Amino acid sequence: MFEKILIANRGEIAVRIIRTCKEMGIRTVAVYSEADANSMHVQMADEAICIGPAASGESYLRIDRIVSAAEIADVDAIHPGYGFLSENSHFADICESCNIRFIGPSSRAMNALQDKALSRQLAKKAGVPVPPGSEGVVENEAEALAIAKKIGYPVLIKAVAGGGGRGMRIAHNDISLMKGYHTARSEAEKAFGNSGVYVEKYFENPHHIEFQMVGDMRGNVIHLGERDCSIQRRHQKVIEETPSPLIENKFKDLRKKMGKAAARIMETAQYNNAGTVEFIVDDAGNFYFLEVNKRLQVEHPITEETTGIDLVKLQIQIAMGEPVRLSQGDFRFHGHAIECRINAENPYDDFRPSPGRIEMYYPPGGHGVRVDSHAYAGYYIPSHYDSMIGKLITYGKDRREAIDRMARALGEFMLTGIKTTIPLQQSILQDPDFRRGVYSTGFIEQLLRRGSP
Ligand code: ADP
Ligand code: ADP
Ligand code: MG
Repeated sequence: MFEKILIANRGEIAVRIIRTCKEMGIRTVAVYSEADANSMHVQMADEAICIGPAASGESYLRIDRIVSAAEIADVDAIHPGYGFLSENSHFADICESCNIRFIGPSSRAMNALQDKALSRQLAKKAGVPVPPGSEGVVENEAEALAIAKKIGYPVLIKAVAGGGGRGMRIAHNDISLMKGYHTARSEAEKAFGNSGVYVEKYFENPHHIEFQMVGDMRGNVIHLGERDCSIQRRHQKVIEETPSPLIENKFKDLRKKMGKAAARIMETAQYNNAGTVEFIVDDAGNFYFLEVNKRLQVEHPITEETTGIDLVKLQIQIAMGEPVRLSQGDFRFHGHAIECRINAENPYDDFRPSPGRIEMYYPPGGHGVRVDSHAYAGYYIPSHYDSMIGKLITYGKDRREAIDRMARALGEFMLTGIKTTIPLQQSILQDPDFRRGVYSTGFIEQLLRRGSP
């Protein structure tokens, strides 16, 4: 049994993890940067240790400082949350060698799925379709041009180490491909410390559908249903829902087919905790593997709402080696859930970040409403980290009810002093195409081009 867990993260996800630990009777240790001294996760944890200055490279990404904190506090395990060190297999290895359990997949499973070009190959081996593209890393311009010629434009140049929607470049012809190849490489080097890129077919306005997967220590892998995350800005999710309207309304058999494909990938990697397999789906119902997120996902609460499962608790139980007997038949899905990511940014000024002090904060409530956030009145949002300040989740017996409830809850959300994505999300919730469940990854761009407010 774990008695004490250190949370190697900040913000809403640190708060989310502390909540479950409290319910399980596990003591918690927060780590924080100097910019986060007044953060909610510091106040909620049983202990808190400052690990350095604001810059994440000097704090939340410092393995040495986090492991020292864990040793000083004498914890049994570390939960990495998402982002930061959550998918760093070296960090997972160091934790294990210090006799601290890493709450996530084994570093072996992580390594098998680390590089996005290599995971494409693993997916192929597992018999799962991938977008047409390069075999592995593209080593030079000539190779990129040859692949584009073979698969046809447009193509997407992607960083093998990319994440968070960053490190992607679209090319429509040879000239933009040559230019994009070099800028993508140098951007990837700067952002991820790895200049490797690969090339794949760019699909115009596809659907992003992903599967929540869970593997246990006995090699069982199951899925907990899909999430439709096609409402995006800059390749990053803004609204997610489950079940996917595309699957529900048009391709009912896809859930089984994609769920099986996702399980084959995770079984091949011997995956043994919670993780997500992401796909893009075209309008004809063809699906293609994108990547595996080897961690808890930002949008995990909607799956919790429709399955009744606490995913953080499940992650901890698996990491403790508890006999979590997973069987696909045991899981039932109920109703419909939607999440809006509340970001401190101005959606009508190119999503420019809007850090600063929150003046008033009054979150919505009532039946079927959940708010996962670290924000409070008077909280100063630092500019050093990402702009998400919380997530609003609603549940309904069906999609219509979940949407109506979300529209009501967004209207109730009182958050002043900063700009947020709420007004954009309100207009999306009213959009007739969204209401019909007809949308793709191009939706927000099309909506903004039509010129709402
Ligand atoms: P999710 O599907 O969980 O939303 P995202 O891709 O949006 O996944 O990433 C979740 C968080 O992790 C965000 O805070 C994002 O900025 C961060 N993140 C993900 N991958 C990387 C990466 N390779 N480098 C830096 N940050 C990342
Ligand atoms: P990240 O690691 O940044 O999350 P992903 O490969 O998961 O990168 O892609 C993020 C988003 O970018 C997808 O949800 C989708 O909107 C878009 N995207 C990725 N690959 C393609 C593609 N081949 N064609 C069209 N859109 C894509
Ligand atoms: Mg992704």
